[in-house]
Amino acid sequence: MILTDFDYVRAATLDEAAALLAEPGSRALAGGQSLLVELKTGEGTAARLVDLRGLAGLRGVQETGAGGLRVGALTTLAELARDPRVRAVSPALAEAARAVGDPQVRHLGTLGGNLAAATDITPAGAVSGARDKATDLPAAVLAADATLRLAGAGGRTTMTAGDFARDGLPTGCLITGIDLPAPGPGEAGAFEKMPDRASRYPVCAVAVRVVREPGGGLTGLRVAVTGATPRATRLPAVEELLTGTAAGTAQGAGAGAGPGAALGTAPGTAQVLAAFRAQPEHLFVTGRGTSAEYLRHLSGVLTARALTRATATTT
Ligand SMILES: Cc1cc2nc3c(=O)[nH]c(=O)nc-3n(C[C@H](O)[C@H](O)[C@H](O)COP(=O)(O)OP(=O)(O)OC[C@H]3O[C@@H](n4cnc5c(N)ncnc54)[C@H](O)[C@@H]3O)c2cc1C
Repeated sequence: MILTDFDYVRAATLDEAAALLAEPGSRALAGGQSLLVELKTGEGTAARLVDLRGLAGLRGVQETGAGGLRVGALTTLAELARDPRVRAVSPALAEAARAVGDPQVRHLGTLGGNLAAATDITPAGAVSGARDKATDLPAAVLAADATLRLAGAGGRTTMTAGDFARDGLPTGCLITGIDLPAPGPGEAGAFEKMPDRASRYPVCAVAVRVVREPGGGLTGLRVAVTGATPRATRLPAVEELLTGTAAGTAQGAGAGAGPGAALGTAPGTAQVLAAFRAQPEHLFVTGRGTSAEYLRHLSGVLTARALTRATATTT
């Protein structure tokens, strides 16, 4: 039961939705899988719900012509998970969508809702009390180097996934979709997750993108973490330490190998863990029943798994 009063408006146009959301107390309603839970538990409030579900233009996946994809904010997680074009252009995003919750959540929950629910970050950058409910997709859009498309009362704009992860959604804006760039030659990605056993939210999840050079080395590495860090974040120092490596297997055969080592498929687990051990613990969250040290280690384990799978799919 929802114990709070609010107005409800089903927006007929994007401009109407943007104008309504510019007013204080208005919140967008998409699949309701986070928002309605918040209202029921009292974790969140709303003076007005602006239902986006009538905005057909925000649904579905379109090819951009340059090999990339434009994905509407109302595209459901189930649609993302099964769309062959999404799986080809950004396997990590499709896998992340597949890893969310349960079938009901995936059939109602949307791309835009998952991204927006993730941040709960004020423009000043403070993370709200919802930090223990990090969502999965922000890591995948970071690793994919996606661009978010936004609409507000002032018009349309775009934002990089990196800026969005750091700053959150500009006040009063709604996400209309994302643009995924076309993958280059030798590019691959993967997503790995350790879910909370009760809620299925990520204790830690990692999305990677990698380019395998003809000589076997890894370049273009992106490693993005959610759940284990205060907000979804890329780890450039880890990326740098692992870039150019071409070591043995993820079972550790490549431990200690560095740039120019024998050709293989991915850095070994030990090598990836060493790269994570070099990161300061304060990058990782504490106080959720796990230590920052544990989450740093877990992030490394999941990164090694994701890199092994991703590089196995490159030619
Ligand atoms: C049982 C359960 C398990 C779950 N497990 C997971 C999990 O494993 N991983 C995970 O990531 N999530 C999980 N979730 C959370 C949920 O799946 C996601 O948050 C969901 O994708 C939200 O999408 P939605 O469309 O339902 O958003 P809503 O609930 O409608 O909205 C969520 C928030 O986003 C805002 N919003 C919605 N759409 C937009 C938009 N287009 N632009 C701007 N703001 C918008 C809303 O105002 C609200 O603040 C779980 C939820 C439940 C109930």
